[in-house]
Amino acid sequence: AKSAGRNAFHFFRPVFAEQARRRLELELALREAVDRRELSLHYQPKVAASDHSVVGFEALLRWNRGEEGFVPPDRFIPVAEDCGLIGQIGAWVLAEACGQVARWHREGHGWQRVAINVSARQLAHDDLVGMIREECGRQEISPRLLEVEVTESCVMANPEQTGPILKGLRDMGVSVAIDDFGTGHSSLAYLRRLPVDVIKIDRSFIREAGEDASAEAIVKTIVDLSRTLDMGVVAEGVETFEQAEMLAGIGCGILQGYCFARPMPASEIERRWDE
Ligand code: C2E
Ligand code: CA
Ligand code: CA
Ligand code: CA
Repeated sequence: AKSAGRNAFHFFRPVFAEQARRRLELELALREAVDRRELSLHYQPKVAASDHSVVGFEALLRWNRGEEGFVPPDRFIPVAEDCGLIGQIGAWVLAEACGQVARWHREGHGWQRVAINVSARQLAHDDLVGMIREECGRQEISPRLLEVEVTESCVMANPEQTGPILKGLRDMGVSVAIDDFGTGHSSLAYLRRLPVDVIKIDRSFIREAGEDASAEAIVKTIVDLSRTLDMGVVAEGVETFEQAEMLAGIGCGILQGYCFARPMPASEIERRWDE
């Protein structure tokens, strides 16, 4: 057993060292990303299931490392959370999204809400309500033009703490959406009491719904639940018209996915509007 242990040690150590090195390298590059203007936001339309008209957007963070290309947010956001950079990055996302909303509004476009994603740490440690109020004031936009997406697992991890924050957002007019719904453990008792406007059904259920009867049943249950609780419901990751039709058929009001539009730079959104 001892020699096997030693072998395992020799086998794993270089892998861990390599992982740690890569992560440190990512962290160092991320620390400079904001100053170097390597971050940007792409916007993905959300459409009405009934006529596919655009009803809002989700802002999605992009990091372009130049020669090294784009780093997916699923890779760098966890790093940013761990090393404490998420506060700075989240503040940048908020300012950038509010600036975009203000520009679109001035140009006669931006009557739709723009949603931003907020991480667990931002919700726990930042004065999100104060930050949003301040940024909206600076950009002279109504908080009603903003939506905040927080994941189900983040909200439900500590509903006594997150509840009042969500209520603060909502009292200001910001719409509150529960992201990745169905992947966490929601207590229905809490969900009913939480100040939530919209439920976003996680992509994994939409993907399986066409092939798997139980996934489709789950989607239908979530749609019915949202209606019972008087909340809006969005399906994310809608890739095919079959999925879109099925979702419209069971009463899911808003759809988002490659089937309609990929996330794209603001300039491309504007080009489409002007067509
Ligand atoms: P999410 O909030 O669940 O966002 C949805 C993800 O699905 C996005 O990936 C989007 O590009 C992708 N998507 C949209 N439509 C489709 C589709 O039809 N098919 C497929 N396969 N994917 C689709 P993305 O942009 O890579 O973002 C990944 C995650 O990173 C997000 O998941 C969110 O959790 C996080 N994230 C992105 N931007 C931010 C941000 O500004 N702040 C924070 N805290 N997290 C962010
Ligand atoms: Ca989201
Ligand atoms: Ca998701
Ligand atoms: Ca997510």
